Amino acid sequence: MRTGPVELDFDALDELFAKAESVSVFCHINADGDAIGAMLAMELILKNHYKKNDVKLFSRDGVPEFMKFLPGAENIYDAKNAPVAADVDVALLVDCGTAKRIGREFSGHLEKAGKIAVVDHHVTDGGFGDLNLTDPDASSACEVVYRFAESIAAVIDPDTATYLYAGIMYDTGRFIHSNTTPEVFRICAELVAAGAKPGEIAENVFNNRALSHLKLLGYSLSNMEITGDGKIAYLLIPRTIYDELGATDEDNEGIVEQLGAYRECEVHTTITETADGRTRVSMRSTGRINVGSICAELGGGGHVFAAGARSDDPLEEVARRVLEKTRAALAALDGTVEK
Ligand code: AMP
Ligand code: MN
Ligand code: MN
Repeated sequence: MRTGPVELDFDALDELFAKAESVSVFCHINADGDAIGAMLAMELILKNHYKKNDVKLFSRDGVPEFMKFLPGAENIYDAKNAPVAADVDVALLVDCGTAKRIGREFSGHLEKAGKIAVVDHHVTDGGFGDLNLTDPDASSACEVVYRFAESIAAVIDPDTATYLYAGIMYDTGRFIHSNTTPEVFRICAELVAAGAKPGEIAENVFNNRALSHLKLLGYSLSNMEITGDGKIAYLLIPRTIYDELGATDEDNEGIVEQLGAYRECEVHTTITETADGRTRVSMRSTGRINVGSICAELGGGGHVFAAGARSDDPLEEVARRVLEKTRAALAALDGTVEK
C-alpha cells in the first residue's frame, strides 16, 4: 500500500510542452480504455491549455469499439491511415511501459522526435524516455495525466473529465482492483464534479460490446481449465475459435478478468492466438502471486497483479511455460503444488 503519490517532475513536462511546436502522442498496441482516455485528455490539454495546433494521436490498432463514443476518438490515427514519420518536437508515450509497446509500425516516428516523454504507471527499470513521469503506484495513466493537469492548473472541461474518468474506471476494473486507492476516489469525485457522467460512461464502455465478444466469453467460461490445486484458472483460445465465432482480437479484451470469478483461483490467465499469428498471454493475480515478474520472464511486462506478454512461439508451448512458472511461484509460497 502506498503512502502517498510518487513525486513526478511535472514542471519539466510543462516546460517541454510550453516550448514545443508539434507533439505526437502514442499509446500501446491493442489500445484499452486507459490508453485512449489518456491520449484524448492530453490532446485537449495541449490544444486548450498550451494552445498547440500541431497535435497528432497514434494508436496502432485504432480505437476499440467501446471507446468510440468519446468525442475526438475518430481523429486518432491507426497503422493504416497514419501519416509517415516526420520531424516532431515531442513524442509523448502514454500507458506504455516500453517504447516497443507503440508497435513496430510507429518506431520511425520516435527516431524523428526531438524529445521523448513518458506518462505511465507500469513497472519499469528507470524508463526509456528523455523525461519519464511514471508512477507504478498510480491506478492508470489517466491518473498521472490528471495529476499533471492539476499541477499546471489546466481547466478540466466536461470532455477531459469524461476521458480521464473512463480511463481510471477501466484500469481499476470499475473500482474493484487493488489499485483503487483513496487518490482514485478523490480524483474521480473531482472529475464527476467537472462533468463526467459515471452511469453513461460505464454503460458506453461495458455494455456496448459486440455479440461476438459475448460468444467468445461464453466459449471461455465453458472451456476454462483449473490446475495447480485449484489455484490457477486458464484458457487457451486457438485462432480457429475466433474464426468459428466471427470474433476479433478486440473481442478478447475483458475475457481474462471473468475467469477470476472462480472462487478458488489466485491466478487467471488466457493464452490466445492473435490475428497476426502471435501468441498473447494475459495474466491476473488476486494478490499473492506476482504475475508481472512471470510475464517479464516471458518477455512481456505490466503490473504486479495484471500483466501480459507476446511470443512468436506456438500457443501450447507458451501455455506450458506460463503454467510451469505459475505453479513454481505457488510452490515457492505454499510448498508442492499438484500439476
Ligand atoms: P493485458 O492482459 O493485455 O490487458 O495486459 C495487462 C497489463 O500488462 C497491461 O497494463 C499491459 O499494458 C501490460 N502488458 C501486456 N502485454 C505486455 C507486453 N507484451 N509487454 C509489456 N507489458 C504488457
Ligand atoms: Mn493499457
Ligand atoms: Mn493503464
